[in-house]
Amino acid sequence: MSADSVIVPFVDLAAQYQEIKVDFLLQLDALGASGHYILGEQVLQFEKELASFCESKHVIAVANGSDALFLVLKALGIGPGDEVITAPNSFVASAWVIAAAGATPRYCEVDEGFNLDPKHLAKTITKRTKAIIPVHLAGIPCKIEEIVNIAREHQIEVVEDCAQAIGARYRNQHVGNFGIAGGFSLHPLKNLGLLGDGGFLTTNDSNLDTRIRLLRNHGLVDRDHVKLWGYNSRLDEIQALIGRLKLRHLNAWNVRVREIASIYQKTLSTIVETLKVPSDSLPVWHNFLIFTEKRDNLRNYLLTRGIDTRVHYPIPIHLQEVHGNEYVRGSFPKAEYQSTNSLSLPIYPTLTDHQVEAVTTAVKDFFE
Ligand SMILES: *Cc1c(COP(=O)(O)O)cnc(C)c1O
Repeated sequence: MSADSVIVPFVDLAAQYQEIKVDFLLQLDALGASGHYILGEQVLQFEKELASFCESKHVIAVANGSDALFLVLKALGIGPGDEVITAPNSFVASAWVIAAAGATPRYCEVDEGFNLDPKHLAKTITKRTKAIIPVHLAGIPCKIEEIVNIAREHQIEVVEDCAQAIGARYRNQHVGNFGIAGGFSLHPLKNLGLLGDGGFLTTNDSNLDTRIRLLRNHGLVDRDHVKLWGYNSRLDEIQALIGRLKLRHLNAWNVRVREIASIYQKTLSTIVETLKVPSDSLPVWHNFLIFTEKRDNLRNYLLTRGIDTRVHYPIPIHLQEVHGNEYVRGSFPKAEYQSTNSLSLPIYPTLTDHQVEAVTTAVKDFFE
């Protein structure tokens, strides 16, 4: 069977679009007729609705999730000579924003849940460390309270990378409220995805909020007055409109992905390694990872059964070419194990029970 006869695609964004299409097309016309396309009513309302959803005091919409993290680092004054720690098994954006700010990315080994391990954190912190960017990878909260406590002892900031985790909770608190700020992505592939790029950040710190609002819009206090050198990182009104329409469905969509994850766990955990989710967290399953030494064979087999999968991510950040010879294999064994043994199964709200069963049956057949 070839890839184009896949019956369980890895994602199906067009199916999700159908759920907002009618409202979107109607309101798009009104938006066009309004003549107001940048930082207008849609962005304002979207920020309010996101603040309420994330239970944060302030939400600032920006051009993408990377910018959300980057602007926080800039607003905190992090730059050359500083070090910032993140997870080596994350998407590369968690690290490049550190380099883009002029600072040096450092990595910390991950734990049994493949999130940054607080036990390895203290020895990664140096005199130059200014912040930690823990990642709630795959939509599963990391041990954020322990991380924040360690950071506090060392008087460094925590900026949560929530790009994959909108709607996730740790000890009943929405992610993005534990550190000084949280960065979220609205990239089409994320749990709340737009029809293009977008992102936002949460903070409960009013000074930081003010500063980042300036940074995202040329440093302008008003039309004519520039307070500091800024950037252009705004979310546009059309994307904000789409985000508002989709946000209404997000809780239901996250419930559905949790349902799928629990079916995967029930049927697959006896035959392959799956992620153990701590009982004090509520994940949103951006990805569902299984682990096996036969990963590549399993992946090829599933494709012959019409099931598309991905690897998140095949090369950990510390072993990427961009780092040259800075790190050797073996530096972060758990993160490296994930890159060679993990496979991400399709998981998204429009996946049918029939498709979920096709996946579990095919995985079982492979191991028999
Ligand atoms: C997607 C992602 C980002 C970056 O978001 P963009 O909107 O693509 O810039 C950052 N960190 C993680 C973990 C991500 O998955």
